[in-house]
Amino acid sequence: MKEFSISTNVFFGNHSMDRLKQIENKKVLIICDSFIESSGMVDKVKEYLEGCEVYVFSEVIPDPPIEIIAKGIDFLISCEAEVLIAIGGGSSIDAAKAIRELSRHMENVDIHIDECFAIPTTSGTGSEVTQFSVITNKEKGIKYPISDKSLLPMVAILDPRLVVSVPPQVTADTGMDVITHALEAYVSKNATDFTDALAEKALTLAFRFLPQAYLHGDDLLAREKMHNASCLAGMAFNSAGLGINHSLAHAIGAKFHISHGRSNAILLPYVVVFNAHLMASSYKDYSREAKKYQRV
Ligand code: NAD
Repeated sequence: MKEFSISTNVFFGNHSMDRLKQIENKKVLIICDSFIESSGMVDKVKEYLEGCEVYVFSEVIPDPPIEIIAKGIDFLISCEAEVLIAIGGGSSIDAAKAIRELSRHMENVDIHIDECFAIPTTSGTGSEVTQFSVITNKEKGIKYPISDKSLLPMVAILDPRLVVSVPPQVTADTGMDVITHALEAYVSKNATDFTDALAEKALTLAFRFLPQAYLHGDDLLAREKMHNASCLAGMAFNSAGLGINHSLAHAIGAKFHISHGRSNAILLPYVVVFNAHLMASSYKDYSREAKKYQRV
């Protein structure tokens, strides 16, 4: 028996942030990194939260380490939030997921989160719809992907206006993360017709719109399509799983502090060749080619 399910409610496009207006008179904790707070995005979120008591934990850093998760849990306990809003790249969303999940398993802690929101500001990880959270042990140089359905955000908001400020380098890195998610889900042993449909559409969108988003960061159509591609690829791999490209990228990223998307991109051509059993023959071909040129 196989299962395919999507439990996160996804709101997207113009006015998707309006969903936040439904949070009324609650204690809300916003989790993000310092750039997201200083960029004005947190203030934008606050505008929608009428009558709410709002707290901000903005200490997340890329590849969030265990220590930051522990600090976030302390913050959550002290403010007794009822609603969590993660806004940022995969690092902020993963941190919020881990903070919520781990606080639930602590003794003598009485926290009740009614709703948790994920608002991605990069188009890459798909973390807003996945049951994964990647936490780093900086001391040991190891990334731990934790996984459980209870990590799934309840609501995802995809507003392309939040992504226009992403610089070209980060657009490229995160875009390659989307392509790697979709490709690995597509060739996974656990792929199904359902995950294939999501992966195929994600790849079509990413091949068409990633160069445009990279070259013209303020192109809202390209940003919207890449945001959708990222989310679709997230849904695909959440069900089909990923492959050795990601296992290697986690190991390399944690050790050498290379961004997650870029680690994936560097490894991808080698993993494709390896998985297609082309390794031996392509080496032979390359050496024959090289000899040809030597003779000339
Ligand atoms: P990130 O969250 O680490 O952000 C990268 C940089 O981009 C940061 O400096 C951030 O401040 C900046 N940034 C974010 N939004 C911006 C914006 N709108 N404008 C300008 N700058 C902006 O990067 P990421 O690639 O989104 O996330 C990577 C993390 O996600 C890694 O730890 C990776 O392991 C994890 N990940 C998780 C999943 C999952 O399913 N949970 C999947 C893939 C990757």
